[in-house]
Amino acid sequence: MSREIPSSAEAEALRSRGVHHESSELEGAEIAIKDLPALPEPHRCEQLSESMLGITVVSLLIALFVGLTQGVAVGAPPYGAEWLALVCIYLEAAVAIGALCGLLCGDPGVVRRSPETCYPVPPEVLARLQRGESLIGLSNITDQQLGRTYCVRCLVWRPDGGSMGSRFPGSSMCHHCATCQRCVTDFDHHCGVFGRCIAGSGWRGNMKYFKCIISMAGCAMLTCIAPLIVRIIREPTTPHSSSRTVG
Ligand SMILES: [Zn+2]
Ligand SMILES: [Zn+2]
Repeated sequence: MSREIPSSAEAEALRSRGVHHESSELEGAEIAIKDLPALPEPHRCEQLSESMLGITVVSLLIALFVGLTQGVAVGAPPYGAEWLALVCIYLEAAVAIGALCGLLCGDPGVVRRSPETCYPVPPEVLARLQRGESLIGLSNITDQQLGRTYCVRCLVWRPDGGSMGSRFPGSSMCHHCATCQRCVTDFDHHCGVFGRCIAGSGWRGNMKYFKCIISMAGCAMLTCIAPLIVRIIREPTTPHSSSRTVG
């Protein structure tokens, strides 16, 4: 849970009562997190239509591959290659459905507002907020020394490993997605098929789910083809033309 940052008046009152906060908290105490402007609204219609496309594509591929494998397995001897393929294709379908749920419902790595990400508020942003002015027209602010950038839409500091002179060259790249309207760490791309930012590395983010879905499509294709090849090898086609007799 994020800690609440005291306002300047509250901070002064706390000081006078002898209650001390960390300097990093007091630096940005001019505006509390709850008083920051609301986060921009994601393009929900676009996200929804893209998600529906992704669900449809995965469902159709599952139906196609399961149907084909089922068709090959009909009439095949039990416990043969066809039956093994059938077990595999259902497992692959289950894994793909699980990965799809993870991709659609999981967090890609959104940078949340917290005392660590919100403070200190850059002076130019703070001045506009205190005057009640819009932040439209402001560009993201780069802190070369600490290798981070301040997103003027999410109002958060985010690591920027790619910035010149970054002190954290190995840190993740962040990007503000125009569709999801959030800053995401380890951003790869916004997927127009699944309607989600694809981001993360290793166990972080949702890249693992994305790769899993792609892998399952490849595995399912092989699972479909393998029993067909086995059947062709086992039962070579009868040359009908050679059986005809010449009168
Ligand atoms: Zn942002
Ligand atoms: Zn996105």
